[in-house]
Amino acid sequence: MSYARVRPERTRVRLFPQSPGAGEARLETVELFPRRGMVGTGPEDDRMYVTEAPDKRPYGEVGSQWRDLFPPYRGKAGIAVAPGPDGHFDHLRPGEAGFRQVHLYGCARMALDIWEGYLDERIPWHFERHFPKLEVLALRGWDNAHIGYGYLEAGDYQLEDGTLADYALDFDVVAHEIGHAIMMSFAGQVPFSRRTAEYGAFHEASADWAALVASLHFEQAVAGLLGTTGGYLEGFNQLTRFGELSPNRQIRLANNTRTMWDFRDGWDSEHDLALPLIAALFDAFVQIYKAILVREGVIPRGLARLAEQAEAEPPLRPEVSRHFAHWHARRPEAFHDALAEARDVAALMLVGVWDLADPRDFSFAQLPELLREVDWRDFEGELYPIVRGCLGKRGIGLVRPGPRLRPPDESSHVHSVRTVMPD
Ligand SMILES: [Zn+2]
Repeated sequence: MSYARVRPERTRVRLFPQSPGAGEARLETVELFPRRGMVGTGPEDDRMYVTEAPDKRPYGEVGSQWRDLFPPYRGKAGIAVAPGPDGHFDHLRPGEAGFRQVHLYGCARMALDIWEGYLDERIPWHFERHFPKLEVLALRGWDNAHIGYGYLEAGDYQLEDGTLADYALDFDVVAHEIGHAIMMSFAGQVPFSRRTAEYGAFHEASADWAALVASLHFEQAVAGLLGTTGGYLEGFNQLTRFGELSPNRQIRLANNTRTMWDFRDGWDSEHDLALPLIAALFDAFVQIYKAILVREGVIPRGLARLAEQAEAEPPLRPEVSRHFAHWHARRPEAFHDALAEARDVAALMLVGVWDLADPRDFSFAQLPELLREVDWRDFEGELYPIVRGCLGKRGIGLVRPGPRLRPPDESSHVHSVRTVMPD
């Protein structure tokens, strides 16, 4: 795996790159950063431990005593899973006892590994003053996942058609929560009450992007994505659908149509306000990917231009798609490399902005300037024109959002159990 640093033997797990409810449920073997033998029964490693807690309600739902709000969980728990005889955790099959918690562990650890790889350093948890490790709990009968002070909890629930949507098996959802944790690590010193509402929306967009970047580290899944799309990524595909619950249901679409003009008169939730930014970053990501394809001589410049034209003229898309498939069939590995490079560029841009953004006075209006600064520092100013154009199309930096119209509710990360910290 490209994200693991070289090269003692790492611990193996098998994960679903996409929620198995989304249709194709194929496991991919992934190597986690801890060396073989360093992940103990639980699973538990140096950064986190996982427990199945079928009877537990999420932290913060009932009661307000310390034990209702913070780890450790001391109630009834499932059986801790021991590694296989070879020290790896790839020995269980879906449906077998323990698979769910191993999968949840693998998702959380893989996401952490990937971002530590980009930063080239250990990312401390924002709660390390009180808890040395992240407590990761697999709950039942709770339609959510969240990260809080010392814990990550993922539930499951039934869809209308009776099938079970299980967040412990949904890499996107778990990686999104780890994305929040990483951002909290950057902004750890600033209390939540001092952070701007727009920073909350930026948090959401960043967490979605943290998940998207991480999901592009599944080698087989990426090869499959390029195969089914022929390398033409603009459409509705596995990449653009975040947190797929079933073949045609998902939590958010990366290539959504929202712009800042939609929020000029106000907004209700930071999840909504995040949408234009998620989309702008997706547009920029695809543009950068195409620029790399052209730079490397993988597709002709004329095709990149035609693809741009097709954005405004949908009837052109089938033709563009055919051309992409033609070039992809010639050099699939070059498409793979371009996608991986675009992914890494997106990751480094994000990390740069997380580092620079000040939660106390952050606004979307600052984003073009922050991205320009990161671009000059890390990419010699090559990317800013592309990124600026994509932000502008969504009104970011041009239109200020109106006021928040509704007070934050439970779904908000800004005002909820997630932000409760011990005194
Ligand atoms: Zn979130």
